[in-house]
Amino acid sequence: MALPPNPNTFANNPLDRVSYKRVNADWVAGQLKNPDAFILPTWREDPFILPPAKSGEAPEVGFMRPGMFADSIAKGATVLFLGLDHKERPYFAIDLSAEPDPSQEGALKGFGEFTDLRSIAPQIAAADAAIAAQAKAILKWHSTHQFCSACGEKSVIAEAGYRRDCPKCETQHFPRTDPVVIMLATHGDKALLGRQEIWPKAMFSALAGFVEPGESIEEAVARELLEEAGCKVSTVRYHSTQPWPYPMSLMIGCTAEADNEDIEPDGIEIAEARWCSRAELRDVLAGKGDGSLFVPPPFAIAHQLIRSWVERDS
Ligand SMILES: [Zn+2]
Repeated sequence: MALPPNPNTFANNPLDRVSYKRVNADWVAGQLKNPDAFILPTWREDPFILPPAKSGEAPEVGFMRPGMFADSIAKGATVLFLGLDHKERPYFAIDLSAEPDPSQEGALKGFGEFTDLRSIAPQIAAADAAIAAQAKAILKWHSTHQFCSACGEKSVIAEAGYRRDCPKCETQHFPRTDPVVIMLATHGDKALLGRQEIWPKAMFSALAGFVEPGESIEEAVARELLEEAGCKVSTVRYHSTQPWPYPMSLMIGCTAEADNEDIEPDGIEIAEARWCSRAELRDVLAGKGDGSLFVPPPFAIAHQLIRSWVERDS
């Protein structure tokens, strides 16, 4: 399956989720016993990371064998089926949060450490970062959706981790993904960036906001730009998306053509907004800025939106 190229960290997940197979609990249980199966241990939202095998190499996501966690599985640790790789090897994730740090004692001691995904993502293989993001988002959903939102009964995991069922009122609950629009408004040779009060000084980024119920992506882009920066746009174009497991969002990257350069930051979400020229942003991306403007690193979709625009007509 060839998809358009996506420049974003956490996209391009290589696993086949085989949703038609994971509905079969016996098949999933058999895959967990497959000697070629991998399982990603996570602890309090952090994936298990192995240090570089040799000096100069990169750290790796710590895929282990499911048999190492038989006790934790027996005690009820949440296990999630992630998918099959190109060799049909199954991948799982397990949430060990109920235990003391398993990297400090037990089977994982001495192998590596649980590490914040955001900080390690730029260093690990892109495909593994995407798999870790998938695990993080769904396991977080399980940890925060233990009870039925219709009747309050404790729900149980179903469909290899992609559903929770209420044993009392029989409501089925599915993992949520929260859509967020992030957009680069442009006018001629300028792009609009904004900064939040709490950000590091001189850090500016594309504006963003949650899509609200009953709203199209285009409407959300136009609304957020108008609300946060007083910027009116008439054209919205899709660029790319980024799975963003903080905790379970999908960043929808867009560009938008502004009607003019009138702006008025709301002073709440956006403390300051400014139009930046293509030449200025090109220098910033090349590390040649004068220090008065910084943009997010390549890890962030905002960076990719800015880079794409700068390079498009340069
Ligand atoms: Zn219920």
